[in-house]
Amino acid sequence: MPQSDVVIIGGGAIGLSSAYYLNRAGYSVTILDDQTPDQVGSCSWGNAGMVCPSHFVPLAAPGVVKQGLKWLMDPESPFSIELSLSFEMIQWLWQFRKAANPTHVKNSANTLRELGMFSRSLFIELDQTLNFGFTQDGILMLCSEEETLSHELSVSKMARDMGLDAIDLDPEGVAKTETGMATDLAGGVYYPLDCHVNPVTFLSAMKNHLKEQGVSIHHGTYVTGIDGEKNRITMVHTENESWKGDHFVLAAGAFSSKLIHSLGLKMPLMAGKGYSVTMDLPTQKPAIPAILVEARIASTPMGSTWRFGGTMTVTQRSKEINQRKLHAMLRAVSNYYPEYEYDWTTSLEPWVGLRPLSADGMPYIGPFEKYPNLIAATGHAMVGVSLATGTGHLVTDIVSKRRPAMDLSNLRPDRF
Ligand SMILES: Cc1cc2nc3c(=O)[nH]c(=O)nc-3n(C[C@H](O)[C@H](O)[C@H](O)COP(=O)(O)OP(=O)(O)OC[C@H]3O[C@@H](n4cnc5c(N)ncnc54)[C@H](O)[C@@H]3O)c2cc1C
Repeated sequence: MPQSDVVIIGGGAIGLSSAYYLNRAGYSVTILDDQTPDQVGSCSWGNAGMVCPSHFVPLAAPGVVKQGLKWLMDPESPFSIELSLSFEMIQWLWQFRKAANPTHVKNSANTLRELGMFSRSLFIELDQTLNFGFTQDGILMLCSEEETLSHELSVSKMARDMGLDAIDLDPEGVAKTETGMATDLAGGVYYPLDCHVNPVTFLSAMKNHLKEQGVSIHHGTYVTGIDGEKNRITMVHTENESWKGDHFVLAAGAFSSKLIHSLGLKMPLMAGKGYSVTMDLPTQKPAIPAILVEARIASTPMGSTWRFGGTMTVTQRSKEINQRKLHAMLRAVSNYYPEYEYDWTTSLEPWVGLRPLSADGMPYIGPFEKYPNLIAATGHAMVGVSLATGTGHLVTDIVSKRRPAMDLSNLRPDRF
């Protein structure tokens, strides 16, 4: 039976980053992933590539539930729920609603900021050897309405209070910062420490390096079950084989919780479906990546291309595309960049990704109490690329029994 020190389930940004730091610490590592080698079906492939310590407010925050309920009435809004009467979904929605309060934001913001800054510094270091084009241009939050601008200004104040650079901008300030395209806005905020990367370039640089280092990566390999004995995980099963290991890392994205039900472990997780569309050689493109706040769109110029990512549909794992929402997203871009034309994107093939959504908007990183050799590394929602390197480093700290680089108590997978 094949065996390695660590078996990682899932070869997305989180699985690959975990493999990188584990391999660097001297462990033999196997990655089992059910996707094709190009990884297009994972959530890590077609996302907006933002690496943003400025995203320190967890998804479960005050106002989110009220706004979500309003959006549920609008078929063109960026949010929806594919409601199923499963116990799993109802429980997740209840737990999310409970977590969306000011105390939770206060307790979580510093953890997200710290993990975000830690990951950013690891990305910079990694890019020096792997050359995946990590770009440190900052990110703009662009607001077309005064009300949302005033909310963003309160977040930017919070950022400054936490020691993060954040520059408030009036419309002229936005125009001076965004030099690639004209903007038509109430204002915005510039976060100069934020960065971006082409996720496909990042994934393939990581994968090439890992292969050179002897990490064994198996694609088209679906993990069907995990065996636990007393308080240890002993092996995982795939359709054709079983794999032994001393440690196992659960990095299967939105599918992670499904894999551990049979072990009696609970880690509430839903999928947050989102779409992206990429223009290869747009007539024009912005200079700086931006979040188009009211429309909840991430806009990223990546080399010669320009990508939009957006919509959030809470689902149990369906990848069906809602054309109405997709096209509402493509139209909404012109509210921010008036030179953009909807017909630049109407005929382009959309990509669909399932974000792993924890029930309180915080990642799950750490060992399970019942099985300490099973380590969760998932639930990163909208910031799984952003937090990938820091997560991989923390997983390695745990496996090697080093003191973790930061406090993990908010991230325990058993917290529900
Ligand atoms: C439109 C959109 C835009 C986004 N933009 C950003 C952004 O700008 N910045 C950012 O930080 N994040 C962004 N995200 C979120 C980010 O993409 C995710 O958080 C991240 O990719 C999650 O990585 P992962 O490794 O946990 O999961 P995945 O990338 O999904 O990897 C998990 C892998 O495990 C495999 N797997 C699952 N079950 C099994 C099994 N049983 N056996 C074997 N393999 C299995 C999956 O197929 C997959 O390959 C965006 C997401 C979307 C949808």
